[in-house]
Amino acid sequence: MISSTTEDLDVRRAGRDMHAFMTELFPICRSISGEGLRRTLRMIEERVPIEIHEVVTGSTAFDWTVPNEWNIRDAYIMDGTGRRLVDFRSSNLHVMSYSRPVRARMTLGELRPHLHTLPEHPDWIPYRTTYYREDWGFCLSDRVLRSLPDGEYEVCVDSTLEPGHLSYGELLLPGETAEEVLISCHVCHPSLANDNLSGIALATELASRLRSTVPRFSYRFLFLPGTIGSLTWLARNEAVLGRISHGLTVACVGDPGPMTYKRSRRGDADIDRAAAHVLGHLDEGHRILEFSPYGYDERQYCSPGFNLPVGSLTRTPHGRYPEYHTSADDLSFVRAEALGDSLAVYLSVIDVLEGNRVYRNLSPMGEPNLGRRGLYPSVGGTDAATSQLAMLWVLNQSDGLHDLLEVADRSGLPFRAIREAADALLEHGLLEEVASR
Ligand code: ZN
Repeated sequence: MISSTTEDLDVRRAGRDMHAFMTELFPICRSISGEGLRRTLRMIEERVPIEIHEVVTGSTAFDWTVPNEWNIRDAYIMDGTGRRLVDFRSSNLHVMSYSRPVRARMTLGELRPHLHTLPEHPDWIPYRTTYYREDWGFCLSDRVLRSLPDGEYEVCVDSTLEPGHLSYGELLLPGETAEEVLISCHVCHPSLANDNLSGIALATELASRLRSTVPRFSYRFLFLPGTIGSLTWLARNEAVLGRISHGLTVACVGDPGPMTYKRSRRGDADIDRAAAHVLGHLDEGHRILEFSPYGYDERQYCSPGFNLPVGSLTRTPHGRYPEYHTSADDLSFVRAEALGDSLAVYLSVIDVLEGNRVYRNLSPMGEPNLGRRGLYPSVGGTDAATSQLAMLWVLNQSDGLHDLLEVADRSGLPFRAIREAADALLEHGLLEEVASR
């Protein structure tokens, strides 16, 4: 999709910038509440002016309740000689997220039910959470577990689990119309890169680019803790939901796998057509998945009570790569180049949403004489043959019933070529816009 060298260089630079931002965010111990989450939101705020909302513990969001706030200072498993065998300071994945405070001495047998490993990847630390069931646990490599001798251990989780707040970030960029595009990402994972610092970095970059334009749609960016964050936002914003015309959840956009689009629950919303069109014109492979009620916060946006047109645009989806939710999803697993390519795809989808319109051909009795109007041989940046063919398609299909995206799909031409052809025809008075279908 990247047609010019300038754009290519631009997204490459953006890919490196996004990777650098992820590197800054990586060490922070995030969860669905707490100081790590707040610090992350403040770092996003340094780049784009999000508003940080704080929702008090005990607030309800439909069938859910905002839990106690979790904070952690330290955690370890120590042997009799005072050596830390498992140490939160070396990786925040070592502590199961939302572990309640613990200080105890116990045998390996007593400790074992609280230890989580991945025997199939003996050097990786798994990522585990216990948000809604009070518990505690440690995650460690299977190799370390197998090296632990019998004996007594000192166990410490220096955490607090107390009434506080859930935090989330929101930014509304006003466009020409009040109709909105929702861009949502989760911000609750600790030191994990692809899922989902990559989404945070890409959403921040998109927001920063859209800020310097006046788009047709208004763009609402949400940086939320997964599930409880989106539910809380939905519960507090029911009045604005009718304005959401298109939406995407951003996740897993830095791995080397091909782009994947998961359709909204509606399946044929404009966002579904736009994403499928853009992915269909990529040089690399791609996947289109039907909707399923599993995944990221599209689960909430697409629940039947809302049924918002929100799809999920990722590279390799959650759970489909072995590094997912393990210490191997680190900064070396995500590539600046993949981040840049993902950004280019997002920008192309936005270009389709922004540029899609319905027109009527004002000279529909046969083909209008394009040569007489100077519309041959070339228009804009696409080559002459493509631009000529694109004009013929737009003229032929513009009967007030088909939008430009349908014209692009039917012709097999990229949307950009169709949009440029429509612009040239508009300039020569051959088309008029039809308000809506
Ligand atoms: Zn995840």
